Amino acid sequence: MSFGNLNIIDPLCRALAKEGYTAPTPIQTLAIPHLLNGKDLMGIAQTGTGKTAAFVLPILQKISEERKAARPGVPRALVIAPTRELAAQIDQSFATYGQFLRFRHTAIFGGVRQGPQVKMLSSGVDVLVATPGRLLDLMNQGYIMLKGVEFFVLDEIDRMLDMGFIKDMRRIVAALPQKHQSLFFSATVTQETGQFAEKLLTDPVHIEATPQASTLECIKQSVFFVDQDNKFLLLQKLIRDEDMQRVLIFSKTKHRADKIAESLSKSRINADAIHGNKSQNQRTKAMHDFKSGRLRVLVATDIAARGIDVDDISHVINYDLPSEPECYVHRIGRTGRAGADGKAYSFCAADERNILRRIERLTRSRAEVMGHQYHSEAAKIATGAAAEPANSYRSRTAARGSRQDSYRKSAPRKPYPVRRC
Ligand code: AMP
Repeated sequence: MSFGNLNIIDPLCRALAKEGYTAPTPIQTLAIPHLLNGKDLMGIAQTGTGKTAAFVLPILQKISEERKAARPGVPRALVIAPTRELAAQIDQSFATYGQFLRFRHTAIFGGVRQGPQVKMLSSGVDVLVATPGRLLDLMNQGYIMLKGVEFFVLDEIDRMLDMGFIKDMRRIVAALPQKHQSLFFSATVTQETGQFAEKLLTDPVHIEATPQASTLECIKQSVFFVDQDNKFLLLQKLIRDEDMQRVLIFSKTKHRADKIAESLSKSRINADAIHGNKSQNQRTKAMHDFKSGRLRVLVATDIAARGIDVDDISHVINYDLPSEPECYVHRIGRTGRAGADGKAYSFCAADERNILRRIERLTRSRAEVMGHQYHSEAAKIATGAAAEPANSYRSRTAARGSRQDSYRKSAPRKPYPVRRC
């Protein structure tokens, strides 16, 4: 099966070839023909299945087949995602897959000034990716009208329901025109997501996809509970003691990535860092050295790591856990490729304990807890606000009891039957 067999147009096929995609993933093979035919879709798919391209490609194709001038604040495609990270990532996918097409796209989310977003909207937009709160804000201020929406995507419905966005989503749906194509995605199947989708979808196709085996099954996942101050000592010891051939380390900031690489180099472990503040030349050199084996350790931030395409990474080390659980799946998927065994080590300090719990829920697996000389029992047993990063929204709401928590308590998840295609 190729993308051409799925009737994907040439400019999209060229972009996919440039990204190194040789064949569609199962969810893409199943979903794309229905979406090109105008069907509604309920997709049960986690990150790692290729679900983003499964909706981005047909939307771009349909938009470019019926060209219309982009109108200020009146998108033709609207994609809703629960978090700003995911919204930004989806917007980036539109840019990547649509690099040989002419269309206008933007992402809007809270936590940043609205001015630049309003400016982008007013210069015309075909595709809008948004988080619910900022979308409603800008709709209320008259900057966005949904009357022109032809394609409506809700990504990660289960998480949006968990986060208490149900009223926001109903308000958004109420502003859509009668005639549009709806594409819903959820990582898990629950009664709530089923009931929600049933009311809004018309005769939908149901598709269920599991992540590629290599994402989780070939990877040995281990967790090391450790205090922040001891993380570097632990890292140094592991790299020295174990036979680590090619190691990719993830850190949460660019500054930390530099510090880790510098400290490793000082202790004679060949390391470099790549992140957004490095020039393209520096990045290319680091990648080249890592691929050729001259560099044993590469330290990266999540964004910079997107361009890393190296097959035989023996170890991925999460020096800091990612703030979004999906990101964990992306990170560890860098090892264990092409049937090889990979190892993923995660360092978990007390303030990362809850994110580890969320990762375990998403992956439905538990990493093996490793004993070591820097073990922190406090990190292992941390709960409540102590288990959240200081100053995070979650730590603040955990301290005072949030709307999300009360919603969760009142609506326990039940399995919901879904037909497989
Ligand atoms: P997603 O599940 O949409 O988050 O995608 C997971 C990862 O798979 C992303 O890094 C995509 O770039 C990549 N991907 C998506 N489709 C394909 C494909 N057909 N071949 C190879 N990689 C893909």
